[in-house]
Amino acid sequence: MSTLALNQLIRQAEAEVARQMQVCNACRYCEGYCAVFPAMARRLEFGPTDVHYLANLCHNCGACLHACQYAPPHEFAINVPQAMAQVRGQTYAAYAWPPQLGALYQRQGLWLAMALAWCLSLFLVLAIALKGSLWHAPLAGNFYAIFPHNLLLALFAPVFLFVLLALGLGVRNFWRDIAPGQAQPGSAALREATLSALSLQYLGGGHGQGCANANDAPTLWRRRLHHATMYGFALCFAATCVATLYHYVLGLHAPYALLSLPVLLGSVGGLGLLLGPAGLLWLNLRRDPAQGDPTQKPMDRGFIALLLLTSISGLALLALRASSAMGLVLALHLGVVMALFLTLPYGKFAHGVYRCAALLKWAIEKRQPSRLRLGDA
Ligand code: SF4
Ligand code: SF4
Repeated sequence: MSTLALNQLIRQAEAEVARQMQVCNACRYCEGYCAVFPAMARRLEFGPTDVHYLANLCHNCGACLHACQYAPPHEFAINVPQAMAQVRGQTYAAYAWPPQLGALYQRQGLWLAMALAWCLSLFLVLAIALKGSLWHAPLAGNFYAIFPHNLLLALFAPVFLFVLLALGLGVRNFWRDIAPGQAQPGSAALREATLSALSLQYLGGGHGQGCANANDAPTLWRRRLHHATMYGFALCFAATCVATLYHYVLGLHAPYALLSLPVLLGSVGGLGLLLGPAGLLWLNLRRDPAQGDPTQKPMDRGFIALLLLTSISGLALLALRASSAMGLVLALHLGVVMALFLTLPYGKFAHGVYRCAALLKWAIEKRQPSRLRLGDA
């Protein structure tokens, strides 16, 4: 798609959110559902930056669609979750760093994710095969006998640093746009935003009973499975950090015992990363298309598939680490993890980062006096 056509689509999506917010601002029936509606009520007009902020504050719980008396087929055609989702997807590309790579968001999908994981795994499998045989004498879980520690560091550290840089500068662009001259967050605002993000407060559907998914019946499963995925990912990452600390600071080198901290963190995290994405895929396949932006499903599923492959190959590696197949499974796992990290800044992972920034803006904004003075003479 040309840049001109893409910009036109973005403007249309922003104008649609602005139109719907004008109707909602007159109605206000959904005011207690989430942070979007009270944030909306602080505005009379909705320029592009207001729309970007509100779109990322929306958690796509679907509650306001099913409560709305003006939802399609009503002529007002109010569908806030869908309109917000369309803008949200476009903001990731618009704020991406470097800007040229923003177009990757539109290309993310299941097949790209699988092809990348497959190619990287194959490359590593071939690297082992060229050194000798894929099947080796049992190495008691010593991964570094296959890929030396320094080689792994040289492969993964630059990718990890790039992910941090790309996501950090992307969200900085977003923050500068939605919160120009914003006051520094106080500790209360920081605490509230952190708790909202960690508890996924707004996946409660406004009444604490959860999100709509296949129909208007609320379910807490979307929130629970997001929690399993989020904390599973965090624990796996913590396992890697603790192992690095063991290696460089304490001089304790892998393999680690089954009851050691890195293995325990990795095992519990791996289970969370298996159950969470598997359940989210199940819900995603059953999701009412009216509740989101169907064009983003390939991006959602590509990310879920990479998370699933990461946990499956990681747990398989733990189970087979004392066998002759360890090298092969290690190569497959590292290829999948590398594919996951390479796609993190330009795929579904970004929604968590941008949403945290929007939650922080809301926690600051709600503590400030409203700029609207409707009662003033
Ligand atoms: S979504 Fe519908 S019911 Fe809710 S505030 Fe907007 S117009 Fe009113
Ligand atoms: S979909 Fe849920 S989070 Fe989004 S605006 Fe509606 S009620 Fe709020």
